[in-house]
Amino acid sequence: MKKDETENGCEQASEEKKKIISVADLPGIGPASIDKLSAAGFNDLLSVAVATPGEIVGATEMSEATAKKIIAIARANLEMDFASGDEMMRRREKIIKIKTGSEELDKLFGGGVETSAITECYGQFGSGKTQLGLTLAVRCQLPVGQGGAGGMAVFIDTEGTFRPERIVQIAKGANMDPDEVLKNIKVARAFNADHQILLAEKVEDLIKKQGLNVKLIVVDSLTAHFRAEYIGRGTLADRQQKINKHMHRLIKLGDQYNIAIYVTNQVMARPDTFFGDPTEAIGGHIVGHNSTYRVYLRRGKKGTRVAKMVDAPNIAESEAIFAVDEGGVRDAKLPKE
Ligand code: ADP
Ligand code: MG
Repeated sequence: MKKDETENGCEQASEEKKKIISVADLPGIGPASIDKLSAAGFNDLLSVAVATPGEIVGATEMSEATAKKIIAIARANLEMDFASGDEMMRRREKIIKIKTGSEELDKLFGGGVETSAITECYGQFGSGKTQLGLTLAVRCQLPVGQGGAGGMAVFIDTEGTFRPERIVQIAKGANMDPDEVLKNIKVARAFNADHQILLAEKVEDLIKKQGLNVKLIVVDSLTAHFRAEYIGRGTLADRQQKINKHMHRLIKLGDQYNIAIYVTNQVMARPDTFFGDPTEAIGGHIVGHNSTYRVYLRRGKKGTRVAKMVDAPNIAESEAIFAVDEGGVRDAKLPKE
């Protein structure tokens, strides 16, 4: 007993001297636990450091004491990334704003849909969420000086609404070569929520292994699978946690590679609202909090669309009117009053 304690003590001391940079370096974690942690999304020190002991226990079946210990060690060894104001300014200067095809909408976005940010559009069926995603997938390919981001798009399609024929129309509308444009959009159909999460993770392979210059990731829709799969199962907390992690990975990709993330979200009826629009985005606060820009889309007068900036770090709440035609997103031609 006594001998054991001293041995453990020594072991601990030498482990602490060793630099801990990955989950595998954490003391007392065997390969089986590493695999389980990894399967649950705890792939790096940060994810362990910010986990709760309960999450780690749930993922690995290790004791709560061990979980607490590895969290504490992960925290102690994490190189925290504090950036100074001028560094932040330099990072902001790298940000590209992808123009939408509508000047009014660009104005609403403060110049366009930003890289290194999540832009969420929510609205009812037919409000134009997918059309904006398709338009961005085309226009992000334009050179930076011409309103694009000079790169390609990844389109994660959860509803089966991606249409290459539509891309051809929108490319023509932007005076671009449709064949080239089609080649520069990587489309994947996500069949369920886990598949969607996996696809988002695989985007990094496209960038790192295939060397693709991805500048836009569209997830259309972000929430549909989650909503369908977790309906009425009393697992709302589970669902929220999964969406949260999924969005964290997206924003990390966006930050790391200066990519614009565009996600769509549905609305549900809110029967307790008697005035105004009785709808609310699904995914609750988790989606809202993780989105940098949150925009509500609805149908307007005479076939127009109305976009309302609901939440943004540096843009006041405001509205823009735009249209969708054969060539994609456009300014609405409003009759002079
Ligand atoms: P959701 O918000 O459900 O994703 P969409 O983005 O698919 O909605 O919007 C569908 C609408 O886009 C259609 O009702 C139509 O008004 C418009 N639209 C789609 N394709 C075309 C087209 N080729 N020409 C003109 N308008 C189109
Ligand atoms: Mg759609």
